[in-house]
Amino acid sequence: MKMPCYLVRDLLPLYHDGVCGKETAADVREHLDGCESCRAALNALDGDTGAEGQLRAEREQASADALRKVRSDLRRKRLLPALLVGLAAVALVIGLVLGFRNYARGVQLTIAPEDIASVTLTEDNALHVTMQDGKSWTAFNASYRTLRVDGQEKEIVLFTMYVDLWSSLFQDGWTDGEEAMLFNDLLDETEAVCYVRWDEWDQVSAATKTEGEGADARDVIDGDAVSGLLHTMWER
Ligand SMILES: [Zn+2]
Repeated sequence: MKMPCYLVRDLLPLYHDGVCGKETAADVREHLDGCESCRAALNALDGDTGAEGQLRAEREQASADALRKVRSDLRRKRLLPALLVGLAAVALVIGLVLGFRNYARGVQLTIAPEDIASVTLTEDNALHVTMQDGKSWTAFNASYRTLRVDGQEKEIVLFTMYVDLWSSLFQDGWTDGEEAMLFNDLLDETEAVCYVRWDEWDQVSAATKTEGEGADARDVIDGDAVSGLLHTMWER
């Protein structure tokens, strides 16, 4: 049976969904074989379904995204206070370190021997200096060195130094005759006591060479290479 286009168009949704009778379907198929515009109408039905499916998928994706965003917002709100506390702690540590270092750099270290209350040279070469006013310093790597400048040599005691912020704040000074004697002995053998900032100690070490052997060995510092790095605390 030859079907007119308007009838086929009415039947197309049923045909598309596969719910029309076998014979009707055969007639529709026959018509479609010979009619381009009805074929296009059928394709349009397919396309609509495709677009609907895509729309549904997009809607599902959108709601899943929204759910995920709500979850991550909640997580962020919970994390934020912890993050702020962490940042504050880091800032505090950095502030303390910088503050400490700046304090150490800013200290006036030109001292007179009579202002020194006591000095201890420990086994691990740390030097503790306490002043009459109670302030104290700790010096590291204290050792005898020879400083050579323009061919002239000078015996010095050299150490890295930092100001004990705790001690300088609370002035827990101590005195001991024996320790003071040690410092006096130390000064008797040397012409100067110098300190090196601990962040510049490597530069001074690099400019130091060992000369001689055995008991005669001594560490000689190239004074020209370290000019400006040695800060004189005391000089004869
Ligand atoms: Zn047709």
